[in-house]
Amino acid sequence: PAPPGSAMSTPLQEGFPWLDGASHEDMRRAVGALYRVHSLLGAITDPDALLVRISEESRTVASAEAASVMLYDAETDELYFQVALGDSGDQDALKREVRLKMGQGIAGLAAQTRRAVSVPDVTKDPRFFSDADAASRFQTRSLLAVPMMDRDRLIGVLEVVNKVGGDAFSEMDEHVMAMFSNVAATAMVNARLIGQQIRNERLAAIGEAIAGLTHHIKNIITGLGSSTELIQMALDRENTEMALRTWPVLKRNVARMSCFVQDMLAFAKPRVPVRRPADLSALVRDAAQSVKDALTARNAALELDLEGVSGPVSVDEDGIFRCLLNLLQNAVEALPETGGRVSVTASVTPCGALEILVADNGPGVPPEIRKNLFQPFFSTKGGRGTGLGLATSEKIVKEHGGSLVLAPSVSGACFRMLVPDAAVKSEDRE
Ligand code: ADP
Repeated sequence: PAPPGSAMSTPLQEGFPWLDGASHEDMRRAVGALYRVHSLLGAITDPDALLVRISEESRTVASAEAASVMLYDAETDELYFQVALGDSGDQDALKREVRLKMGQGIAGLAAQTRRAVSVPDVTKDPRFFSDADAASRFQTRSLLAVPMMDRDRLIGVLEVVNKVGGDAFSEMDEHVMAMFSNVAATAMVNARLIGQQIRNERLAAIGEAIAGLTHHIKNIITGLGSSTELIQMALDRENTEMALRTWPVLKRNVARMSCFVQDMLAFAKPRVPVRRPADLSALVRDAAQSVKDALTARNAALELDLEGVSGPVSVDEDGIFRCLLNLLQNAVEALPETGGRVSVTASVTPCGALEILVADNGPGVPPEIRKNLFQPFFSTKGGRGTGLGLATSEKIVKEHGGSLVLAPSVSGACFRMLVPDAAVKSEDRE
């Protein structure tokens, strides 16, 4: 302890009479605990975790056997245990079974009067609510309860129980606990606001996503509806030529729908890639086949350079197929009316990664949207796009431990996919 009249005890005590009896050690502990609790405010955003830390610090600084936080339920006008810390007794039973009305017990009294209530010996105080001890099989001797207030709004009550050493809680304990309870109240209010804000943002994002997706589905269904009608008409008139002309439109819309559903599924669920030796050239050709009609419609050319991949590659075939398909579809959709060109170049790097470049000679990606490219539901294509292609592809490549980026290119757009550990050692080949 500091000697009386030391530098520690004089200036601080002016205006704080409750510090008079405090030892240097008490003050050191209190200031340390206040400092820690304040620094936690910004660092812990989970209110429950923060309240546990505040209770722990209260227990230490007030030398209490147990500490708890009760929160106020405005609907029922009751207090319930949110945190209960102690080395003995059944804290879970407290949380399960005990609820206090306003004015009931010491905590209820602190809540009702909005003032700290300190009881040196609960056995001599009829206001004490013994049911809590009965539920937790804990024996309370001394108790200090302080209301947690957000300005004039009651948030809950912070309590410390049983001063270690048997004495009652001191005036200094009361003041320090009052400061702790303010921090706890602020933490709770902030956490609730943040929670509400996150929920609002989520709802807004879900609403936006659903609107975009519904628009996309509606377009596909319109395409399906009109092509089936045309085919019906052709069948009625036995006009085979008309039916054959409309058939690809129907097929294209079914493919769009299927692609959309596959992307949604791939995007929604985390998946551990199932790597098996795969024939990359077959994968690329299959994906290219799916965009063949669109390429033909634009008179565009597709160049494949797969020379850099000599044998099978270890990848999740379905996943990498989805990525190739999405990149190729985007490339084709970006092509100019005439002279369109898409290229796919693949190689295995010296360290065994599979590198695939999908490039086109479209307008390229404007700098201002580059940061949004991989965000789910970001699309510049209106009802024709879902904004899931790049997000899904990036997710799949990342699940392989790799990366998908927009690579620098002189003109057009070039996406670079890198999948590590894709080289299949010759002894693993089937
Ligand atoms: P969607 O194709 O449904 O719009 P994506 O996630 O596949 O969704 O792509 C998001 C956006 O990225 C596209 O709307 C487009 O603006 C841009 N983009 C993707 N690929 C290309 C490309 N090859 N050239 C130009 N812009 C592209």
